[in-house]
Amino acid sequence: MTSVFFDHNSTTALKTEVLEAMLPFMVNQQGNASSRHSFGRAARTAIEHAREQVATAVNAQPSQVLFTASGTESNNFAVQGICSNLEKGQILTSAVEHPCVSRPALAMQVRGWQARSINVDANCNVDMNDLQALLAMPTNLVSVMLANNETGAIQKIPAIGELARQHKAYMHTDAVQALGKINVDFAALNVHAMTISSHKIGGPLGAGALVLDKRVDIQPLLYGGGQERGLRSGTENIPAIVGFGAACELAIKNLATFAHHTLHLREVLEAGLAKLNATIFGSESKRIPNTSFFAFPNIEGETLVTALDKKGFAVASGSACSSDSSEPSHVLLAMGVDEDLARGAVRVSFGANNTMEQVQHFLAVLESELVRLRNLTAIAA
Ligand code: PLP
Repeated sequence: MTSVFFDHNSTTALKTEVLEAMLPFMVNQQGNASSRHSFGRAARTAIEHAREQVATAVNAQPSQVLFTASGTESNNFAVQGICSNLEKGQILTSAVEHPCVSRPALAMQVRGWQARSINVDANCNVDMNDLQALLAMPTNLVSVMLANNETGAIQKIPAIGELARQHKAYMHTDAVQALGKINVDFAALNVHAMTISSHKIGGPLGAGALVLDKRVDIQPLLYGGGQERGLRSGTENIPAIVGFGAACELAIKNLATFAHHTLHLREVLEAGLAKLNATIFGSESKRIPNTSFFAFPNIEGETLVTALDKKGFAVASGSACSSDSSEPSHVLLAMGVDEDLARGAVRVSFGANNTMEQVQHFLAVLESELVRLRNLTAIAA
């Protein structure tokens, strides 16, 4: 049985065109970009071309793009690197951030900073009154994600950035789940720093970027040979960076088609889910088009994910990219969802190659699995 992949927010397959762009740098091109010989110069040229591709995709200047190894690294770099150079104040992160934003903020507490969480409403959107109240205390950084990995909810980043700036705080956004799904415009977002990641958009693992306003003084996480303007040492992962650049170019070229196609799939999926009496989380919010997060009362998310996997559908439960923990999603708890219902959460995230036929088949399988699981529960009771 071939499985259907409905878990594109966790990672995506490498696109063929991306692999083709990477291959020469994996097999023939052996230069270190810091070397002065022709091999080194070719590697340097490839990195700078990728930097232009990434910058163009997010309406930034190439000089604002710093390559890292992942979204996780970029988020740690932004939170810790920006705050470390400032007089100790507070770090505000929304209650629905990915742990690679909230945990580095918490880790700064042992060094004397205060990490505080900004409340969200029932639709996963930042509570602006809470943010305003929190900003009464001296604040170094506000970090709020552009799109949530679980619900897909899109935050009002320009307005949040404006509030942060009024209080002399820096503003960072994690745009990992937004890139390739909605327009991501670094200049228009009104932020000082923004995180993106390659493997979420058909690029390879091992590349990410922090897009950074050059006026922001940031402390490196990694010291060494001084690569990336001395801000991120380590020999550059040239094939991954080249692939990331190619993936960015493709993602922007295909953005409108991707958004239109996946939104159509989601509309049909959610109409079917409504008939099955699912609760759809964050559905009143503006969302990235490919994501649907839902639950059925008295059905464990983990159980449903395993049952669907056996029937050939790969979906995620709760917060799939963070761990294998069975704790209910912190995102849903922050939205005020009842803990029992939160334990039932399942996420479908579509990619460009998913089809309407797959969605129809999924709905039929889901319906019969729900009946089977409810019967099992009834027998056990
Ligand atoms: N931020 C968000 C919103 C994510 O969904 C993820 C991964 O799932 C990350 C950051 C981490 O990115 P990476 O997997 O490149 O470390």
